[in-house]
Amino acid sequence: MSAIEQADVVVLGLGPGGEYVAGTLAEAGLDVVGVEAELVGGECPYWACVPTKMMVRAGNLLAEAGRVSALAGEAVVTPDWARVAGRIREEATADWNDQVAADRFTAKGGRLVRGTGRLAGPRRVTVGDRTFEARRGVVLATGTRPRITPVPGLDGTPYWTNRDAMTAKELPASMVVLGGGAIGVELAQVFARFKCAVTVIEGQDRLLAQEEPEAGELAADALRADGVTVLTGTRVRQISHAGTEFTVRLEGEGQPLTAERLLVATGRHADLTPLAVDTVGLDPSAQSVRTDGQMRAGEGLWAVGDITGRGSFTHVSMYQAEIAVRDILGQAGPDADYRALPRVTFTDPEIGAVGLTERQAREQGLRVRTSVVAVASSTRGWIHGPGNEGFIKLVEDADRGVLIGATSAGPAGGEVLHGLNVAVHAEVPVDRLQHMIYAYPTVHRTIEAALGALR
Ligand SMILES: Cc1cc2nc3c(=O)[nH]c(=O)nc-3n(C[C@H](O)[C@H](O)[C@H](O)COP(=O)(O)OP(=O)(O)OC[C@H]3O[C@@H](n4cnc5c(N)ncnc54)[C@H](O)[C@@H]3O)c2cc1C
Repeated sequence: MSAIEQADVVVLGLGPGGEYVAGTLAEAGLDVVGVEAELVGGECPYWACVPTKMMVRAGNLLAEAGRVSALAGEAVVTPDWARVAGRIREEATADWNDQVAADRFTAKGGRLVRGTGRLAGPRRVTVGDRTFEARRGVVLATGTRPRITPVPGLDGTPYWTNRDAMTAKELPASMVVLGGGAIGVELAQVFARFKCAVTVIEGQDRLLAQEEPEAGELAADALRADGVTVLTGTRVRQISHAGTEFTVRLEGEGQPLTAERLLVATGRHADLTPLAVDTVGLDPSAQSVRTDGQMRAGEGLWAVGDITGRGSFTHVSMYQAEIAVRDILGQAGPDADYRALPRVTFTDPEIGAVGLTERQAREQGLRVRTSVVAVASSTRGWIHGPGNEGFIKLVEDADRGVLIGATSAGPAGGEVLHGLNVAVHAEVPVDRLQHMIYAYPTVHRTIEAALGALR
């Protein structure tokens, strides 16, 4: 057995959270080993946020061109997926090569170890036949992988996950998307805009089931307007594949669906068993690693990112990473606070949300006032014309007089969200929000109208 190698900190997984922790600690002068099984940078730049948003940008351009005839003349566009695939390959992922990211880390003084790491007791990690001992501790940042819904027949078929979709050089003529969460609806809309015949199947009774019902309805309307068939409250009984065709049989009566491709977008999960978390006293069958406010998961153990189950977003992993870095460096700082967790579904219209939904607030027993105001009713919405669908929904804790949740859907809905994010985070009294100045004519003036409509 080779000698045990020493380090100050070992970071397992160099996605956005792990890379930030490892790089920042290395810059601070610590001896950091970063262990990465695939690409430094993780899911986000290569198979998730960045390539999907390049796709969304392209799809939105096509849709916007379709609105020209109503407002500005004539525009003829010919969708060409090769441009999108090329941009993802060349600009976003360097053909799925992480050399730049790896060099960025080592230039900060970090030691990159390629391979799959696992815990081997407190402050110990093995990678192949190497063992590392971390004087300060280990940071778990290994993210999640697609949750493949257990539908009879699905196993063994050449279904796609997000990874296949991101690397597709051509789009199929038809596609069934399993799952109507953010990933499913974003990709469904993009593919439909590139002339793929898409059907989305969602088991719950609406799309974006974690968000406000109005958000799910808006997403369904938007998808249908792009030609997507949206089936909610629908369960899949059986899936098969023959030749170049998938057949999807639904529960109940009705014709089976057929499509060239099947995309599984039914959520993601952390798999703790291969990390051997039992060697540090954690439950390998748990859905996530529980952390305290300083991202500690045990003695000499921290966890950041999707693995913590506090919201699968790059901004959550980086927020947590900052806290973990401070704690590892022995610096005091506030605990993680998820009250104002923003999330954006990058459909057109964009659907941003922060904090609690109305239902969540009521389930907490709060006395709630709400309002919903359409963007189209604002001057800017009216000027904007086609593509102005959307709304502002506010959720107020009436006893405290502060917003505890909000949804901002519409043109640039994710950008408009920011003001609401600040309001929820800083608990700005509604009374003060009602007496500030909102620029005219902006989409965000709808917030002013929604504040006035709180009941
Ligand atoms: C299609 C799609 C679109 C998305 N769009 C957005 C978006 O627009 N905005 C947003 O905020 N979020 C988005 N997300 C979510 C975002 O990608 C994740 O929240 C983010 O990547 C999580 O970061 P992380 O730090 O937890 O690590 P991850 O990015 O999950 O990376 C974990 C890393 O750990 C490595 N690893 C795993 N196990 C081991 C091991 N045992 N040893 C060594 N290395 C290991 C993996 O190879 C990987 O590189 C999207 C996700 C998907 C799938």
